Amino acid sequence: MTSGQELSNKIIEVVCVPAENSGTEWWIGLNTHNGFWDTSCGSQKIAETCANRARDELATIIDKLLPMNTYQDLAKQTAVYPDIGRNLIYTILGLVGESGELAEKMKKAIRDNGGNVDTETMVKELGDVLWYVAMIASELGLTLQEVAQKNVDKLRDRRKRNVLHGSGDNR
Ligand SMILES: [Mg+2]
Repeated sequence: MTSGQELSNKIIEVVCVPAENSGTEWWIGLNTHNGFWDTSCGSQKIAETCANRARDELATIIDKLLPMNTYQDLAKQTAVYPDIGRNLIYTILGLVGESGELAEKMKKAIRDNGGNVDTETMVKELGDVLWYVAMIASELGLTLQEVAQKNVDKLRDRRKRNVLHGSGDNR
């Protein structure tokens, strides 16, 4: 999976050009996919320092935001079912199926192993569940990041109002 730092390095590139008629000054630019920011005159060292700082800050932001969406993109790349992008029902049925498989593994652990689950087995089934969650979000035109953020916002709000316990979707 691509790290924020790798992506940031691709997005921001420092461009230093010697300023005309100047022995020591440099034009500093940050070259991005969306255009070129021509910043100001200064030394090459200042330009590189600015670019490094911008890269680091962008990498931090990307690392906070991207992993879920990157996973969602990767899930999409491995999707094989009819009418991808217009087949919400398929993904919902898939989630129900994989949730059932997860429950089945738990049931068998209770029956055969005193309720002790094999973590590796559960990781695989949970991953299958996650894959369908990601694909349902894609079918709905949502990012996983949005789904997660809205869920966190909802739970924080309930905690603040002391209504985490209880029932009802819109409490
Ligand atoms: Mg499975």
